[in-house]
Amino acid sequence: MRYAVISDVHANIEALEAALRDIRKQAPEAEILFLGDAVGYGPEPNECVSLLRDTCRILIAGNHDWGVLGLTNIEYFNEYARAAIHWTKDAMLYENMETLRAFPLTKSLDNILLVHSTPIRPSEWNYLLTMHDAEANFGHFREGICFVGHSHRPFILERLASGEMRLLGDRAKISKGRRYIINAGSVGQPRDGDPRACYAIIKDGRIELMRVGYDIEKTQGKMRKAGLPVFLIERLSEGR
Ligand code: ZN
Repeated sequence: MRYAVISDVHANIEALEAALRDIRKQAPEAEILFLGDAVGYGPEPNECVSLLRDTCRILIAGNHDWGVLGLTNIEYFNEYARAAIHWTKDAMLYENMETLRAFPLTKSLDNILLVHSTPIRPSEWNYLLTMHDAEANFGHFREGICFVGHSHRPFILERLASGEMRLLGDRAKISKGRRYIINAGSVGQPRDGDPRACYAIIKDGRIELMRVGYDIEKTQGKMRKAGLPVFLIERLSEGR
């Protein structure tokens, strides 16, 4: 079992290319699984959707993908996210919209569940942020490992057979009889204070959260040119 798991690319091609280069270096044989939010916020939705389609074995949908498709109510998005959704709708090519439309909400393989938000009602786009959220969600999937994205904050959470849960660091051994919820972080817009692209590698019974730098200023220049909100441009260099 060798997979690289990437999430929340958000139309940031520089970050996506840097993550893919790093994956080829760290785990060249790994299959790539994508957890949703290909678009929204960033300046190159078409480039990101077609590159993801060409490189990932599995792609699932995020709330921004559904927002662009008109499948979810964007009144609940903040004003910057909403502005970016409108901008993205205008920029997207028909064929890439159809690619997004084919993304399912969840996918299960090799004892791993992939979901953008939470195993409980994935289309409601709730966040999995607390131990309480985690406890509730462990009861809603059967696989040993569940990968999520959505919050742009990476973590590895382990649940022992006794029911006790604990947060592990950036790398951990996958133990038999234990279950895991892992947030793969965000490739294109990290929010944990580290602006580098984040993704996860799972191989040889181990899981690791990886970070890789990319040309943030180049992406910011493209966003300025596209007229995307200043708040979204600035947050990339802060990783918040
Ligand atoms: Zn996102």
